[in-house]
Amino acid sequence: MSYETDNNPQIRELALTVREFINTHAISLEHTLRADAHGIDPDVRSQLQAAAREAGVFAPTAPVEFGGLGLNHVAQAVILEESGRSLLGPTAMNCAAPDEGNILLLDKVTTPAQREKYLAPLARGEVRSSFSMTEPTPGAGADPDMLTTTATKTASGWSINGSKWFITGAEGASFSIVMARTDVGATMFLVDADNPGMTVKRSLDTLDSAFSGGHGEVVFTQCEVSDDSVLGEVGQGFKYAQVRLGPARLTHCMRWLGAARRAHEVAVAYATDRPMFGTQLSSLGMAQQMIADNEIDIAASRALIHRAAWVLDQGHAARKETSIAKTFVAEATYRIVDRSMQLCGAEGTSGDLPIAQIFRDIRPFRIYDGPSEVHRWSLSRRAVRQSENNILPGDWA
Ligand SMILES: Cc1cc2nc3c(=O)[nH]c(=O)nc-3n(C[C@H](O)[C@H](O)[C@H](O)COP(=O)(O)OP(=O)(O)OC[C@H]3O[C@@H](n4cnc5c(N)ncnc54)[C@H](O)[C@@H]3O)c2cc1C
Repeated sequence: MSYETDNNPQIRELALTVREFINTHAISLEHTLRADAHGIDPDVRSQLQAAAREAGVFAPTAPVEFGGLGLNHVAQAVILEESGRSLLGPTAMNCAAPDEGNILLLDKVTTPAQREKYLAPLARGEVRSSFSMTEPTPGAGADPDMLTTTATKTASGWSINGSKWFITGAEGASFSIVMARTDVGATMFLVDADNPGMTVKRSLDTLDSAFSGGHGEVVFTQCEVSDDSVLGEVGQGFKYAQVRLGPARLTHCMRWLGAARRAHEVAVAYATDRPMFGTQLSSLGMAQQMIADNEIDIAASRALIHRAAWVLDQGHAARKETSIAKTFVAEATYRIVDRSMQLCGAEGTSGDLPIAQIFRDIRPFRIYDGPSEVHRWSLSRRAVRQSENNILPGDWA
């Protein structure tokens, strides 16, 4: 199998431009990220997005009609990995979560009016958005069927009631895609931030800190929305969630692989420059093993991401491939960053190098977009089904 990007000079050129953009613009502003403050400063975001537009690297996943680059999944794998080398990169290029996943969903499931009102400004980076699914116990989490937020039909539309939390970007988003239970099943609604029935109650204090708007607890109290606010069809919410989640978990893998690669680059430079025991750290066997294991984890992660992206580009749902990639990459990138920190000694744990910030931000990836255990559970059930049904290895799911 060969991928479209293998011999595509345009994608290679774009990747080099992104690398230059990240090195020149994003990395120099990383000092503005702080472990004790959530999200990216709005002025820094505006400044970086203007520079990304200027460099021609803005919105690589968004439709061309809204100024995006409209890349396919395999090309995204190359470009989003480069964007992730700085934690500011994906925001600068308008391909950060949750907006990037919401752009994908809105591009597939919207009326023309919703497309103009929500997708157009989001793709152009004029507004931010959020995706409201997870709820405090006993509500939806790893098991989405536990959904407790309700939407009840009224004379003029719907009334939404319930609580959501860990909603990335909720603070400052101009709208949220909200999953709620109706009498015919889970349904997605587009709720404007100025709706008096939707309140961001608080911003959670979390380990990571590089997501714009942090992670909010959002309360819906008799939140009245019109029929025009339904995204797609009533009762089809879980189906649309699948449309978003497969590709969106893969773009997370791409970005985090870039971040892990950056930690590795820093660690290799440190090990090369650090004299000790009459030689360089990079010449000591146990350090060499950590460097080599990082290389192996990077190569394996990239191969799984490209494979899943290629299956998506063939028009398949790639549920199995994205699940395998997500589980492996979330764990491998954590190992890469952990080894990189070890190689850099005390400095690796400090703000003098970017590794500590990446370490904090990458850890939650093993929990969101499906915890590793959920993916293993579903992969195992699929394996049993496949062996029972005699499905061939090349059959897509
Ligand atoms: C940084 C961050 C950003 C997030 N952003 C968003 C967002 O924008 N929108 C949104 O809706 N949600 C978001 N989430 C929430 C995320 O989707 C949930 O945390 C995730 O679905 C798990 O749900 P939970 O936290 O309720 O854990 P629970 O459902 O309580 O699960 C707890 C643990 O149980 C274990 N487990 C689960 N299933 C199984 C199984 N089958 N077998 C064995 N063990 C199992 C796993 O280890 C899991 O971590 C975010 C979370 C984080 C940390």
